[in-house]
Amino acid sequence: MAAFILEKLCRGCKRCVNACPVQAITMVSHLAVVDPEICTECETCMESCMHGSITFATPEERKSNG
Ligand code: SF4
Ligand code: SF4
Repeated sequence: MAAFILEKLCRGCKRCVNACPVQAITMVSHLAVVDPEICTECETCMESCMHGSITFATPEERKSNG
């Protein structure tokens, strides 16, 4: 399960883009987007995000949490 950006919470600050050691995150229309093919699940981006916009929960888990 790669990192996933919660679009409603992303502020487009690019901290995660700069923090990712394998350049798995790019900015698309001012929102961060993770390439799951590249992501190594290191969690560095989640620690770098000051807005709680990055999760490792599965889509099912996210649904059950609202
Ligand atoms: S660090 Fe968080 S708020 Fe900033 S661009 Fe990345 S996901 Fe968005
Ligand atoms: S979990 Fe690690 S590899 Fe994946 S997007 Fe975040 S910083 Fe990059």
